[in-house]
Amino acid sequence: MPAKIIDGKAIAASINEETKREVEIFRSKYGRAPALAVILVGDDPASQVYVRNKIRTCAEVGIRSEGIPMAADTPEAALLDKIAELNADDTIDGILVQSPVPETIDEARVIRAIDPAKDVDCFCESNVGKLLIGGERGLMPCTPFGVLELLRRSGVSCRGKDVVVIGRSNIVGKPMAALLMQKAPDADATVTVVHSATEHLAEHIARADIVIAAIGKPRFVKGAMLKKGAVVIDVGINRIFDEKTGKNRLVGDVDFDEALPVAGAITPVPGGVGPMTIAMLMRNAVTAANLRRRDADAAEKK
Ligand code: NAD
Repeated sequence: MPAKIIDGKAIAASINEETKREVEIFRSKYGRAPALAVILVGDDPASQVYVRNKIRTCAEVGIRSEGIPMAADTPEAALLDKIAELNADDTIDGILVQSPVPETIDEARVIRAIDPAKDVDCFCESNVGKLLIGGERGLMPCTPFGVLELLRRSGVSCRGKDVVVIGRSNIVGKPMAALLMQKAPDADATVTVVHSATEHLAEHIARADIVIAAIGKPRFVKGAMLKKGAVVIDVGINRIFDEKTGKNRLVGDVDFDEALPVAGAITPVPGGVGPMTIAMLMRNAVTAANLRRRDADAAEKK
């Protein structure tokens, strides 16, 4: 039997419906919508598409968005000034700087400049630290949390399972592993992280109940590498030239056609993890708004 296809688009749509209701509750309590500032430095075409999708989804769920385009030659100091202005603006709940920034700008410094309470990407040191320690969930890393939600809402339990995460980036692999290893109903997995220096990669993948691929290499994971019935989550987004159609198209880090007859369940690319990342960003924007109000109310009572 071919693998069940996990429909990330449909699951993301239902999360967005929930977010829409939370936005309404926030609006009725506080008289304004949660607000997200999205800064794009430069004119990278893929980044432009991501930013457009984020802003469009904000409109769909009722979040007020402020798109802030900045020229590719913007000095780092000007970007940091803009972030400082947004940090101080009480009507802005979340700040996102689309990655990658031009090479002239130090991305780590930019991330550090964002107020952790407005860090909707969950990239800054204190938010990553909270994630690792566990406990109350606040702002969550969008792609890894999107993967966890995909699994949970598809009825896949991670508890006690052998999960192999391929890739150790700060955006996907590392926070993915940190989330999966937590003692929590939607996690509790036994996690192995494999990466570019891993020896015997195939052996690790072959025993995985769940494979999460975040490598950035088109169709890297082959069907023959998977255990029969494994759940395969493909985070990769790679643009390739399709000789059959003569056009570019998107493929994941997993060879979907080969994996389909072997896997128990699999996410497609596009339409798998991608829409979930945006849905979780929307959820984070509302969470940031609610937590900021909660902290402000608590400070007032003192
Ligand atoms: P990255 O380049 O920062 O990291 C890639 C990781 O893959 C590295 O940690 C590296 O060690 C590992 N790797 C490279 N070659 C390997 C090999 N031969 N064997 C094992 N591991 C190897 O990439 P990233 O930011 O983590 O993104 C990974 C992919 O996920 C990209 O295709 C990216 O476009 C995509 N992505 C998708 C979303 C989404 O919303 N769907 C979000 C973020 C990233």
